[in-house]
Amino acid sequence: MKFVDEYRDSALARDLARAILAEARPDRDYRLMEFCGGHTHAIFRYGVQDLMPENLRFVHGPGCPVCVLPMARIDQAIAMASQHGVTLCTYGDLMRVPASERQSLLKAKAAGADIRMVYSTQDALAIARAATQQQPAQQVVFFAIGFETTTPPTAVALKTARAEGLRNFSVFCNHVLTPPALRAILSDSADEVARIDGILGPSHVSTIIGSAAYEFVARDHGLPLVIAGFEPLDVMQSALMLVRQINQGRRDLQNQYSRAVSPEGNTKAQALMRDTLVPRERFEWRGLGWLPESALKIADAYADWDAEQRFPVAVTPGREHEGCECPKVLRGLMEPTDCKLFGRVCSPENPLGACMVSSEGACAAYWLHGRSRIPQRTASASAT
Ligand code: SF4
Repeated sequence: MKFVDEYRDSALARDLARAILAEARPDRDYRLMEFCGGHTHAIFRYGVQDLMPENLRFVHGPGCPVCVLPMARIDQAIAMASQHGVTLCTYGDLMRVPASERQSLLKAKAAGADIRMVYSTQDALAIARAATQQQPAQQVVFFAIGFETTTPPTAVALKTARAEGLRNFSVFCNHVLTPPALRAILSDSADEVARIDGILGPSHVSTIIGSAAYEFVARDHGLPLVIAGFEPLDVMQSALMLVRQINQGRRDLQNQYSRAVSPEGNTKAQALMRDTLVPRERFEWRGLGWLPESALKIADAYADWDAEQRFPVAVTPGREHEGCECPKVLRGLMEPTDCKLFGRVCSPENPLGACMVSSEGACAAYWLHGRSRIPQRTASASAT
């Protein structure tokens, strides 16, 4: 398979591993945060961490949209489905994420709510169109989540619904923005900030918003950032670029993923987003709290398709499962295997936190690709 094979070539990986080993100074360590859950999974799936020198560690960040969605928003979606009787359409990853009171969308569906799994906004629109023929009074709500990558399809769905006059369709908008989250991580309170020497920047998100959106990392926080692709060689080459910058005392924005990311990004997609969505004053993130201008809501011109306005529900702050360390995992303050519940009571079959459910979650990545390390880590931890 041309292109994919090239980015997973084992001989090239060995060359890169040797180059990183040669460049990494033995008298210091390197802590590189990968923002995206996709990077976390690539690192574990392909054993990238094992190819790194001992003094280079990848630190996981908040780049999993399912993981950072606070419980209250899932509670709100369940309430829309059960109190207003809407047909709620959502992506599969969200179905098992724990909500308050041991609820989840899957449990609400089992209890009778009309909650359906879809693969795209187009699926949700198709359900709404079919409903206009069969059950004209039935309302269909699309539970939209994701970073800037998945936002343009939501914008298109809003435009399509308005163009078609589809009055039984609306969007529960939970799209979040990566730069404010990164800013929050880097300016966290002094005793809670994770030590980070460089950042592997988002790749898919950057195809939309452009690499220039991350200039503030070097300028305001004095850290190097390399936009990194998702393939194992992308991650390794980006790690090498960061190690070089750190050694040379540089703090630059570099773009390793130049085959897909330009400085200005996808201006057509940005225009679509601007037409339909506007920044929220503030939005709650699981693990990061309330962040200003860190999410999008539906613009006034599309208010008729805004599920939050059409189906209001009372929301109380959600309570995380006691002992779940997702907030610390999401801020790079803790590794999943440091959570006392990891692998004992929390597993993909019985997830207690979002990081174990999502296909991009750090806890799921450790479980799927790094379980063999757990006994070793536990033994050394108990010996100290
Ligand atoms: S292992 Fe489970 S309980 Fe612990 S942080 Fe991860 S998701 Fe939360």
